[in-house]
Amino acid sequence: MEELGVLLLVLGAVYLAECVLWLPRGSAALARRTLRGWRLLFPGRISGNERRGAVLADPLLPAGHVLVVHPWPVSLSPSGVRAGAPHVLEADERPRGDGEFLAYERLGSLAVRGRDLIVDSRVFVSAASPSAARRLADLLGRLGRLPETARARAIEDALASSLDSRVVEERLGVLLARSRSLGRVCGGLLVYLFLLAPIVMRQAGPQRSWKPLLAGLLLLDAAALLLYRRAHRALFPEDREERWASLLAMALSPPAAARAAAHLSRDLLDGVHPLAAARALCSGRIYRELARRVLLDVRHPVRSESLDGDPRAESTSGWFRAALLRALERDLRAAGVDSEALLSPPEPHDPAARAYCPRCRDQFVGGAETCPDCGGLPLVAFPDSRACA
Ligand SMILES: [Zn+2]
Repeated sequence: MEELGVLLLVLGAVYLAECVLWLPRGSAALARRTLRGWRLLFPGRISGNERRGAVLADPLLPAGHVLVVHPWPVSLSPSGVRAGAPHVLEADERPRGDGEFLAYERLGSLAVRGRDLIVDSRVFVSAASPSAARRLADLLGRLGRLPETARARAIEDALASSLDSRVVEERLGVLLARSRSLGRVCGGLLVYLFLLAPIVMRQAGPQRSWKPLLAGLLLLDAAALLLYRRAHRALFPEDREERWASLLAMALSPPAAARAAAHLSRDLLDGVHPLAAARALCSGRIYRELARRVLLDVRHPVRSESLDGDPRAESTSGWFRAALLRALERDLRAAGVDSEALLSPPEPHDPAARAYCPRCRDQFVGGAETCPDCGGLPLVAFPDSRACA
């Protein structure tokens, strides 16, 4: 029975690998915890590389959904679009993207290829998923067709939509309705693979049991594939390529099929701002902490070196941040959160602390005037230290 142990170990390792999501840095995932609601996860610092980090979904919840959320991949203004996220979700992250600016008039050749938006035969910006790329291309096309005077309102409407937490509840409701049977089959497959099949094999012996066990496995696998295909087609009708790629992977690997329900949820919140997702699903404490981080970064951005030399890129970033800030503050007010109280200055941790960084809130003693971790942002003096100076 040594072979059975090895087989179980291999299957377990494959299943655990299926529970790992490789998230782009700057993104986050909302994962359901056993009996304890939703938690917010960020790409791991150690597990991963400069571009991506790992997030582990609960392996004991085969039907537990993991929703990936991203900040906007671009900044918009009435004059054009700048590649790169306008803010980060974690204090020690830096905005990514090359910062290239394009006027709407230059977007005539805009096309979507997978996750990429292609302009003049090269990648202008990559979205989080094919459906997010199509959504962004539609918005850019719409803005390009509008007169410049009408674009500000259209961008503000798009920002408000991305912050609407009711969309999260609606989409999650549809997902749960569409994936209920799939979740049960995934749970059944997990129990079959790691409990039932090993017990039967140990009791009856591999010679006698392998044929009926294989038949049962194929039956469960086929059920998971059929239900996944049906649910995916209802939720993401245009993502044919991704659907067939996932189906092929699940057909070849039963542990992957056991994660089909979780896989279905990954791109559910495309185009939804992480704060809208946190407001709808997480505790008030998690929502307020995320709001604080986003507000601090939007109000005190780290200057991107790639913006140097193109004032249109800089003005687009500034315009979009101001519009985003207004939308965020409006949203926080609606949620009953006082954004000024959220950003109140920190208390000095040390009597010697003289100033703090307005973005990361690190505290400084001595004569430092700027924060080295935040691109040289000027520090803010504690009120007492000004009086003593
Ligand atoms: Zn700082």
